[in-house]
This record gives sequence, C-alpha cells and structure tokens, in this order.
Amino acid sequence: MKDKVIQLIKAYTDTFFISPIEHNKSIIILIFNYAPFELLNKKDYAQIDAYYFVSNASYHKAKQLADELKEIGIRVNYKFDLNYKKLAEINSFAGVGKNTLCYLNDFGSRFVMQAIEIEGAFEYLPTNTKLQPQCENCSLCKNACPTGAISDSGFDASKCLRHLQEAGEYITNKDAKSMQNKLLGCDICQAVCPYNKNQAKVAVSEELKSILKIENLLEIALDDKKIKQTFTSKLGKNYAKQKMILPTLLIVAGNSKNQNLINKLATIKNNDNELTVKNSIRALSNLRGDKKP
Ligand code: SF4
Ligand code: SF4
Repeated sequence: MKDKVIQLIKAYTDTFFISPIEHNKSIIILIFNYAPFELLNKKDYAQIDAYYFVSNASYHKAKQLADELKEIGIRVNYKFDLNYKKLAEINSFAGVGKNTLCYLNDFGSRFVMQAIEIEGAFEYLPTNTKLQPQCENCSLCKNACPTGAISDSGFDASKCLRHLQEAGEYITNKDAKSMQNKLLGCDICQAVCPYNKNQAKVAVSEELKSILKIENLLEIALDDKKIKQTFTSKLGKNYAKQKMILPTLLIVAGNSKNQNLINKLATIKNNDNELTVKNSIRALSNLRGDKKP
C-alpha cells in the first residue's frame, strides 16, 4: 500500500514527506515550489505575490490527490490542526530561518506546503532536503522588514504586513506607508535572503497585470460579485472577498502618487462602510499631499 501511495503522490510532486502521528494516522506534506513575480511599478499596479496563486492551485492539487487516495481505500482528512513548519523541522525535512520560514535545498524559502492526513502508519522521509540557513551572523531579513516584525527574539506575526493586509482594521499611517503597493503578500524578507538569491523571477502575465492595474482594480473591488468572479479561480474563495481586497487596495492607491486616481477615490469616500471611508480619505489626503497633523 505504501508504494501505491508514494506513486500517486509523485504524480503531483517529487518533494514530500509522510510522517506518522498519533492514533494510527499519518500526515503527508506536499511541497510545491514557485518563482517570485517581477515587481510591478508602484504608480500603476498593486502587487500580489506569486505565492498566493500557487497556494490556491496546489490546494486543488492536494484535494485531487486526496480523492485518488480515497479511491484506493485510504481514509483522508483535511480538517486538522497542525503546525506544518514544526513537523517539517522536527523531521529534519526543512530548516528554519530567522524570518521563521522553512528552507529547502533547491527552493530556498519559496514553496508552498499542503497537507493531507491519512489513516494508517506510513513513513517516508527523504534525506538531503533540509537547508539550514546560517542566520547567526546575518540580519538581512530583520533589517529589511519595514515593520519590525522580525527580531533576534523571534517573529511578531501581528506586525507583519501579511497579517495587516488580512486583519480588516484601520492601520497606522506608518504601516500604511510600509505597505507600498503590496496588496497580498510582502516578500521583502525572502527577497533579501542570500538563500533565495539565485532564483529567477517570472513576469506577471498581461491578463493579471490588467486586473492589478489600480484604476481597474478599484472598479472590481467596489463590487463583491466582481471580486468573486475575478479572483475565486485564481486565489481561492477565502481571498476573493471585498474585505480582503478593498481596504489594502485603498492604502496602495494612496501610496501610488498617481493623481489620476483622485476622482475615483473622491466617489468612494461616500461609501457606507466606515473602514472604506477612512481608508479612502487617507488615500485622497496622500495623493493631494495634505499636511499631516
Ligand atoms: S513578510 Fe514583510 S512585513 Fe512580514 S516579516 Fe517579512 S519583511 Fe516583515
Ligand atoms: S536573511 Fe539572513 S538572517 Fe534572514 S533567514 Fe536569510 S540567512 Fe537567516
């Protein structure tokens, strides 16, 4: 049975491990690597990291694999509470850097993990996958992080831009400025890491660029239905929501220095949603160059 399971997994990815856990269960951790996107110009475009697209695509691959495992008589489970990073670390499958990200040979930190819990005690632990960053004499990620989320004593997720993008709260002017044009994802601490330096970047497709053009995206983001139509197949339903896109998009618009957005933002400040109003007022103030109190 184990050989059959491994054969099925290999049709999806060559990088994975299987670790037995309590009560006759095992976890399959699947790895999908990706290349980061080239950066788009901040005046015209919002940026979404390649990670989010790969994460959604790999989630669907994992579900497909789970269905195939069911077909050969294995019970699978998706809803479980598990720290994938910890599991990869304790199994010596991956190293962990000061930025708290896992690192693998060949991929650095740029990969997505998906997990499937299966019934039965299986074990498959490939060797030589682990890349342990030598962080002792390096502070590149710590120094580059614009919000101070990384320190020598650890990582404060509540300060990370990725958290602030999803929190749905009004953030400080300082954090809003740090957001630059980052709509989803940040990547700064990965981009500066020496273990990622040889990775090639890929260009954002013209189709996606057109969506990410701030003036186009403002039209989409004001309509929850359009957001779902545009992003569900690309990012998954959790991110294809107005509350995930619009607050940060207004911050990105305010950081853009793009005067052509002023008329559009002036109409948005009459919105019913308090957070939208506050974010659009700040964006307008930034674009008009109002003096801050
Ligand atoms: S993703 Fe950005 S904000 Fe978060 S820790 Fe890394 S550099 Fe800091
Ligand atoms: S940038 Fe330096 S300190 Fe940060 S994870 Fe990479 S090697 Fe470690």
